[in-house]
Amino acid sequence: MSSSKLLPSFLNQHVTVMGLGGFGGGIGVVRFLAEQKAKILVTDLRSTDELSSSLAQIDPSWPVTLRLGGHHESDFCETDLVVVSPAVPKNSPYLNVARQAGIPLTSEMNLFWERNCGRVIGITGSNGKSTTTALIHSIFQAAEPETLVKRSRSWLGGNIGVSLLPVVQQIQPEDWVILELSSFQLEDLAAVHPQPEIAVVTNFSPNHLDRHGTVEAYRLAKQNLLRWQTSACFAVLNARGEVADWPTGAKRVLFGASDGQNDLLKSWLQLPGSHNVENAQAAVAVALAAGISVTAIESGIRSFKGLPHRLEFVAEVSGRRCFNDSKSTTPEATVLAVQAFDAPIVLLAGGYDKHIDLSSIAATAVRHCRAVALLGQTGGQLGDLIEQAAREANMVVPTYRRFESLESAVTWSLQVSESGDVVLLSPGCASYDWFQNYVERGEAFAKLTNK
Ligand code: ADP
Repeated sequence: MSSSKLLPSFLNQHVTVMGLGGFGGGIGVVRFLAEQKAKILVTDLRSTDELSSSLAQIDPSWPVTLRLGGHHESDFCETDLVVVSPAVPKNSPYLNVARQAGIPLTSEMNLFWERNCGRVIGITGSNGKSTTTALIHSIFQAAEPETLVKRSRSWLGGNIGVSLLPVVQQIQPEDWVILELSSFQLEDLAAVHPQPEIAVVTNFSPNHLDRHGTVEAYRLAKQNLLRWQTSACFAVLNARGEVADWPTGAKRVLFGASDGQNDLLKSWLQLPGSHNVENAQAAVAVALAAGISVTAIESGIRSFKGLPHRLEFVAEVSGRRCFNDSKSTTPEATVLAVQAFDAPIVLLAGGYDKHIDLSSIAATAVRHCRAVALLGQTGGQLGDLIEQAAREANMVVPTYRRFESLESAVTWSLQVSESGDVVLLSPGCASYDWFQNYVERGEAFAKLTNK
């Protein structure tokens, strides 16, 4: 289990924070280091404008120097420590500068893990991490009145967009720390041999190959969550697919083995789609492993309304229900989103090219969609795949068109849809070609459909 250790102080240490980002990790590090009275240098490839919302959270009284719109080599060798954002590729030449100068590298999550004394529930997987993490947190919150005797509370953080580093000293040994962990964070965590008391792997499919290079590297990163667990720990694993057999010393709890016994769970769950039933199964398994009552489990699931940008209902336009699933950045997510609805669908799909096979999006579009608006870099490729999928399935090619902006794609989608249809943004690709991130993409869709 994690234990608090005597760690070096950052007082007057020079620390370079590489990558401020927009999701809370970078700003969490800066806040923590400022409280520790370190001398902080924040450097990011993005400009002041692009980082405005994160920069606004930097208190002017903090000892922070900014180096934005690019990096300086000297910031990586004339410093005591470099805290690297999980988004920075491991082969960045600036990291090599630090390595050659013998400067230690770490990450926000590693700094947290080394200092945290709470009981960790770590959640990873290719899809469903955030939803499962938030569902677990909802259940643990519902259970808080029961656990008050033990004075245990639950904390939510990690890749879901909350840094717990600034509050790490408030976390007590009886508390539960519910952490979503990306493969990038897990890659770095190997250095601290993480032993989560409960680990969850929602599923595994090839993803992020642009960064990890090979499926094997991506798999090894994810497996770091289980690698150092002992028999005092639990590993909650998807029964379907390879993760059921991933190596771990923990007690294995499998979920998702049967479709037939979910009626009760489905009646509690407010979210559409069979994939969300699977996420809820994982959350229930975690709660049971932690000794939470069925009453609290039911109440935590019933009160969970879902996360923004994941099959989120955003507007009704002349009888067409519009759903924002901008968080779908993998083909599997888009296939599941399409399958979550019974009504005819006009799908908006495509985006940044991660060099993965998109043919499953095309196959599902041919079977289930009235029309498809093609977005971004992968739009042309998706159009070809739709033609091919229709030929192979001997089915009619759905109407499709490629667009140069989300606005024109939304306008067209509302025109070609009919009352009673679903208009679904579920790109199956990352957003970096047209947007800063999936949040910006989803918000743009919500705004356009509400116009
Ligand atoms: P992650 O944090 O792993 O990216 P999210 O919970 O944010 O996962 O969901 C992202 C997208 O993945 C959703 O839009 C949904 O369509 C899809 N998804 C959610 N849960 C699952 C699952 N269990 N299996 C496959 N796809 C899923």
